[in-house]
Amino acid sequence: MTSDFTRYHRQMLLPGFGEDGQRRLSDATVFVLGCGALGSVAVDMLARAGVGHLVIVDRDFVELTNLQRQVLFDEDDAANSLPKAIAAKRKIAKINSGVQVTAIVDDINHTNIERYAADANLLIDGLDNYETRYLANDLAVKTTRPYIYGAAVSTTGMAFPVLPHGFGKAAWETAASGDLATPCFRCLFDDAPPPGTSATCDTVGVLSSVVSIIANFQVAETLKILTGNYDRVNRTLLNIDLWTNESHQLNVDSAYAKGDCPCCKHQRFDYLDGRAGSSAATLCGRNAVQLRHRQQAGGINLDAIAKRIKEHGEVSTNQFMLCASVTDQDTLYTITLFPDGRAIVKGTDEPAVARSVYAKFIGA
Ligand SMILES: [Zn+2]
Repeated sequence: MTSDFTRYHRQMLLPGFGEDGQRRLSDATVFVLGCGALGSVAVDMLARAGVGHLVIVDRDFVELTNLQRQVLFDEDDAANSLPKAIAAKRKIAKINSGVQVTAIVDDINHTNIERYAADANLLIDGLDNYETRYLANDLAVKTTRPYIYGAAVSTTGMAFPVLPHGFGKAAWETAASGDLATPCFRCLFDDAPPPGTSATCDTVGVLSSVVSIIANFQVAETLKILTGNYDRVNRTLLNIDLWTNESHQLNVDSAYAKGDCPCCKHQRFDYLDGRAGSSAATLCGRNAVQLRHRQQAGGINLDAIAKRIKEHGEVSTNQFMLCASVTDQDTLYTITLFPDGRAIVKGTDEPAVARSVYAKFIGA
């Protein structure tokens, strides 16, 4: 045994792992999209497991209300309002100094994702919005790299490992054989729900245990894939509710054949090409950003959104708009939302901050 790998002894004992698997991990780069609840659990485990390089991108800062579930952070991080990516890098240096971490404080969008993910063998999802998931899925399918979807809100969670068509032919996939492909994220969820219709952790809460289970499921799939244990990959859509004690592993194998996925079947990358998703424009001199969702079909229910936001700030509606005042990271923002999904977030001139506030309180 190589002495460098001593700390991984218990892991190398696992079936199909060994020193070879450990070496593959140490040669691997994982792109972590978002370092909030799911992401912070995932990077903790991936660092301990000895993944050689973690590229962590997150746009937010550590807050006191994160600590209930975001296991990598502590009260000092919150008191200092450290960016999550930076706080994660500092923690990982103490957990496993052999892991290289690239910490990027930014909003992931179609103009930067290819650059940030350039070195990655695999993408792991720690996101809080659908739009960026479609973007990650586009990139994964286009470049035939695995994308490990995960989501947790309230007491429920979902996860699924996407192995794009053609995966296994890349040079680093020496052990691949047969057809490894799964449906992609867009095969499973053909379009993002309209803004405001999906619950967010900031409005309905989230159970720490569900976060931990989903993130660790994602990590297990990541470790299987990176070590070449493709036959062990869980090809079902995991769906759990820890409050009602329900769990399902849905067989989704036929989703690709039955569907007409624009992404993996027709190689159309709407989100990566910037044709779909939202656009943000800073409104000059108004300390505000306008967000526009391009693929918005039909109107949205302002009253339903108002009802949800009510517990978190002041909100009023009329037939033309919703106006809400909410506090995030100790800053007061005013969100004006129109029935077509267009929104103006006042209180910042940074598109990334506006997107973050929108994702947290309206849901994207
Ligand atoms: Zn697809």
